[in-house]
Amino acid sequence: MDRLIIISNRLPFSLDRQGDKINIRQSSGGLVSAIKSYFESEGSQKSELTERLWFGVADFPQEDWDLVAASQDQNQDFNIVPLFVDNEVYDKYYNGFSNSVIWPLFHYFSSLARYETAYFEAYKRMNQIFAEKIAPLLQPGDKIWIHDYQLMLLPQLLRTRIPDITVGFFLHIPFPSYEIFRLLPSEWKKTLLEGVMGADLIGFHTYDYVQHFIQSVKMLLGVDNYFRTLLYQGRLVKVDLFPIGIDYKKFNQAAYDHDILESRNEIRRNFDEKKIVFSVDRLDYTKGMMHRLNGFEYFLENYPEWREKMVFILNIVPSRDTIPAYTERKKLIEEKISAVNGRFSTISWQPLIYRYNHLAFNELLALYQAADAALITPLRDGMNLVAKEYVASCATQHGVLILSELAGAASELSEALLVNPTDVTDVAGAIARAFTMPVYEQRNRLSQMQRRLQEYDVLKWVNDFLEQLTQVRIEQQKQEVRLLDDRSIVQMRRHYQRASNRCLLLDYDGTLVPFTRNPTEAHPGAALTDLLRRLSSDPKNNIVVISGRDASSLDRWLGALPLTLVAEHGASFKKKNDNWQQLVSVSDLWKEEIRRIMQIFVIRCAGSFVEEKANTIAWHYRNTAPDFGFSRSRELLNNLSSLVQNTTLQVVDGNKVVEVRLSGFDKGITALKIVNEMDPDFVLCIGDDTTDEDMFKALEGEAYTVKVSAGASAAQYSILSQQQVIPFLGILSTPNALTEKEYAGS
Ligand code: UDP
Repeated sequence: MDRLIIISNRLPFSLDRQGDKINIRQSSGGLVSAIKSYFESEGSQKSELTERLWFGVADFPQEDWDLVAASQDQNQDFNIVPLFVDNEVYDKYYNGFSNSVIWPLFHYFSSLARYETAYFEAYKRMNQIFAEKIAPLLQPGDKIWIHDYQLMLLPQLLRTRIPDITVGFFLHIPFPSYEIFRLLPSEWKKTLLEGVMGADLIGFHTYDYVQHFIQSVKMLLGVDNYFRTLLYQGRLVKVDLFPIGIDYKKFNQAAYDHDILESRNEIRRNFDEKKIVFSVDRLDYTKGMMHRLNGFEYFLENYPEWREKMVFILNIVPSRDTIPAYTERKKLIEEKISAVNGRFSTISWQPLIYRYNHLAFNELLALYQAADAALITPLRDGMNLVAKEYVASCATQHGVLILSELAGAASELSEALLVNPTDVTDVAGAIARAFTMPVYEQRNRLSQMQRRLQEYDVLKWVNDFLEQLTQVRIEQQKQEVRLLDDRSIVQMRRHYQRASNRCLLLDYDGTLVPFTRNPTEAHPGAALTDLLRRLSSDPKNNIVVISGRDASSLDRWLGALPLTLVAEHGASFKKKNDNWQQLVSVSDLWKEEIRRIMQIFVIRCAGSFVEEKANTIAWHYRNTAPDFGFSRSRELLNNLSSLVQNTTLQVVDGNKVVEVRLSGFDKGITALKIVNEMDPDFVLCIGDDTTDEDMFKALEGEAYTVKVSAGASAAQYSILSQQQVIPFLGILSTPNALTEKEYAGS
């Protein structure tokens, strides 16, 4: 039995005290309606959840809460845990870092971001306060879902306190491209990413945001992804898209609500059956209000036939009006509205109807239903629910959505009239088109969008996220590698002894030999040579050294032994007692451009060097100042990845090395080919690097796979250090050898 714990900056309601009476006012917004619908639905399905808790900062005094709690007049769907916090820290965390740094930057308004150290300190402090207050209340098995940009550090802070926790994180705003994200001071951006990476599942609204996040994690934390799965600090982290939905039924069925229908008819009567276009947004510079007004003015100028035959109802919802960037905006908007109305109004007509207030749910719905078109043109928006709600509300299949291509919702609502919000001709043209669009086209466009919104509604969104969170935990458990203990070694040795055709696939660097400062120095020592000689002298054994090294190095070090040698991940190989064969015979002209770029990085990064092999070029940075080498390696990766797009080359981010090689050769494919040809009855595969993971995956179920190092891996077992590899192979292949513990115990 699990508990579900929702954590967001704000609680889903506020308290309104009037004298002695305290009223609970439920907040509106996507998250609250999503979670509420989920609780209601799973409540009716006799849920597995034993308890539901919602943590958030209280915007009311403790004594008001005590009165409400005592009267038990709380929300029944879930229990509320309010956090009471210091106002000064809260202000710098909320109005400061959250809304004056992250919000503008993540919405591409970088010039509005105010990089004040005190803001960042308050942000860290407030996230810590959340962690300190919540951690003691958590229980094993709890599922925790943290929401949004105010709490990006919380996943990691909770994980540090309780390592085995299950945490999901969802970002409700865009995640910007790396070029924007990197504008943050170094410590801040790393801390934010590390914070979020404390989660097991990280969700975004769109594919672009997922890609941007993955790119930033790769550039700043050096963590690569495999089908949106990242291996971070030995833990598997999944990043995926979950475009938030709406309560489709609620909006669609409102068309049959008597009161709403009455209000809708009243609006239409008031405007004398003129065409109505509307917009509803919070007061926010991201919503593109000034551009929208410019577009509307351009429409009135250039489509004069519509004057006096239409109105634009513009509703702005008050928001954050204690932040200067918001109040200034309000003044500008109101001046512009007056100017447009002053310019185009007649005695009997005013083009813009402006309101600055909150709308009651029924009022909003009546407006959605009365309008002929919605003009939703944010300059950036994580999703934009108003656009979805409007489409769902058009139950009579009448209405046109004009939507900014820069809103997250645009990726799902492609049948809307998509416009660039800064392009006045585009916006004006779309309004004119909406007013003249044939009814069958409106119906066609609406029904396709409605189908999509109905299928992936808000309930689906919550269910999908929570199911995936469970799934990630299952994946993590599968990936947990067992330490290679004496019992496993003894079992493996029994199998080894019974077998008559054995195949041992051994990686070289980091597995058979330790890493050296200079790759040319990594020759095998006497202990390794003796071991390989002994193993390969057994006629039942096929020993394969499988490496990314070039053929000449492997030949120089191991060529005299009766081994199969695989160089450059399979691009060339030498079968036991045979000659080297080259599988690739294409021109190596491609190397010139890559070499040129890598050489520039050698100049820019002291201690790095280029290694050239027959089918690979590698830039090594093991001997550079660690942070510097790492950040240069991210730049190089970025450069090379875009260069090799649509070619037969691939870029590999290895252990302190960036390699470019011909695609089609990886250790997984090569290992599988060797095993299929040999048809052995015992297979062992040992490796330490990312490229060895390909072998572990390819040989799953066919081989004993051993990873040298701790942490998640596709291998079955792990050995903690390279120094243990030779003793392990020694024990495995010596019939009467005792394992270390057996020695100790004897
Ligand atoms: N909304 C509201 N009160 C109003 C007007 C709108 O609660 O007076 C709701 C609207 O129904 C929608 C949400 O506020 O669900 C706005 O979400 P959106 O994603 O469009 O923008 P955000 O405000 O989250 O940036």
